[in-house]
Parts: sequence; structure tokens; C-alpha cells
Amino acid sequence: MTTLGTASAEPGEVDTGRLEVGETRDGSPFGLPVAVINGAESGKTLYMQAASDGDELNGVGVISRVVPRLDPAELSGTILIVGIVNYHAFQVAEHRNPVDDTKMNRAYPGNESGTSSERIAAATFEAGTRADLILDLHQGSTSRMIDEVRVRCGKRHRLYDDCLELAKAFDCGYVLDQKGPDGQLARAAPDEGVPTVDPELGGCVGWDEGSIRKGVDGVFNVLTYYGFLEGTLELNRQTRANSFEQYGAPGGGLIRMKKNLGERVTRDEVLFEVTTPFGEPKETVTADSNGILWRTRRLPQVASGEYVCSVGTDVDSY
Ligand SMILES: [Zn+2]
Repeated sequence: MTTLGTASAEPGEVDTGRLEVGETRDGSPFGLPVAVINGAESGKTLYMQAASDGDELNGVGVISRVVPRLDPAELSGTILIVGIVNYHAFQVAEHRNPVDDTKMNRAYPGNESGTSSERIAAATFEAGTRADLILDLHQGSTSRMIDEVRVRCGKRHRLYDDCLELAKAFDCGYVLDQKGPDGQLARAAPDEGVPTVDPELGGCVGWDEGSIRKGVDGVFNVLTYYGFLEGTLELNRQTRANSFEQYGAPGGGLIRMKKNLGERVTRDEVLFEVTTPFGEPKETVTADSNGILWRTRRLPQVASGEYVCSVGTDVDSY
């Protein structure tokens, strides 16, 4: 029997339930939606979670499409899932938990008697660190971004190679290999011995079907590669950025991008123009380094200094 919150499944069974974390402001208990898929055969354990950032819904799209396709009779091992992590932010379609104005993915490993976000982090960290592998499904928030997988443990970590391998198995085609900030699940869980990556599935308001499809394929790739499902998976080379450069607007106005997402950028090439509302050119911004256009803002209007785009730099492949 494998249990997560109120979900319990014997080998060959699926169950869903709630992982209670505390109470909402009206005193009602609340719980995160959880699922346990217990394979008929023994094997590894995979933990997956989505909506750690409450406006990042593509991961919820992935899980809601993956779970109905999983037959525990054909599965070796166990899958533990928290379908919606940032409960309070999800309710109001915001990025950060409105109860404590915190970004969930800076709160790991959490604290069960801490702030609202720390309590949710602690409960999901406990579930995640019972697994052999973790997928923490994210996206570039509501900005536009390529589909990629992030390796956040840092190149000197003892699980670095395992995390790189997991990112490769997921196979988005692009990997960002850069040590993440403190408090990320993909940094905290490797310290407990669990290879972890953040698939970053595009960026949109609501759902993006193309990115969701990549995420669904990624989960099945991981399940096949690590022996949860029958079959073999050939690993493909991934294009990897090892750092990032961010560009802001030198002046206010309307942005015209001169490069498409995923396109190669060479040093001194024009990335974007800022124009007046009448289309008169005001400013031109060029790339400081060679790289790949990785992410851009969604809205065309900017104030001086406002974020416009990011270029993945120091690019190689593995
Ligand atoms: Zn995120």
C-alpha cells in the first residue's frame, strides 16, 4: 500500500485524494489534490508536481492529460503526484501565494510550522523526497518562452550528472544548466539524494497546447527511460545554455522584436527596437553575446528599464 495524504493505492491501483496542509482564512481545512499510481510491478518512484507558481498552468494541463493514460497494470514502480501545489495562488490565478506574498519555489525545503508557503513546501518536499526522481513542472510564467528543462543543482553537486541525464530523458531539446537560487525544489531535493529537474513548458496565460504536448511527451519519455513503462528510449542531444543575459528597455514605448524565440543571436545583432506610438524608431538594442533568444515579455508596451527579453548564452550541447 502506498499513501499520499488521503490517497492510498495497492499495487495495480490508482487513487486520488487530498494532502491537507492547514486551514484557509475562514477556518476550513484545505488540501492539495494528490494522486498515487501504484504499478502492478515493483520499480522506482517518480514524484511530479505542478502549479508551484500559481499562474503556471501548463503543468496542470500535463498532469490532467497524463494520469488518464496511465494503466497501473502496465506500470512498474509508483508515481506520486501533487496536481496543484500553490493552492492559494491558483485560486486567484496569481504567481505568488497571496497569503504571505511569497514565491513557492524559494521556500523549499519548507517548514511545517512556518509561513503558509513554507508549510506547503514542507508537505510537498516530504512527498518528493520519498521518490527516486522528481519533475517540478513550471513555465516562464505568462511571458513567452521556449520549452526547456532546467538543471538547478549546480555543476559541482554530486547528483549533477543524474540531473543532466533526467533533463535529457525528458527531451524538450533545450536545457538551462545553471545553479538556481536558494529555496528551489530542484536545488533542495538533490541535497536529499533525489535527482530533480524543472521542465519549463513555454509561457502563456492559461494553457498552451503545444507546450502541454511537449510536457506529456516528456513525462512518458522519463517513464520509459527509467523503466516504469516497457520499451526503450534513445537519448537525444540537447542544446544547452549555461547562463542568461537579461535585456531591459532603454526608453519607454512599444517593443518590436527582431528575433524569434529559439533563434540564434550573434553579438551586436539587433534584438529589438523601441518605437513611439506612431511607429517612429526611438531606440535599438543589440545583443552583448552570442546565444539563443530564450524568453520575451508578452505585452508590447514598456517603461524605461522594464524587462524585454532574455538570451541564453554560453551555448553548447550534450
Ligand atoms: Zn515557475
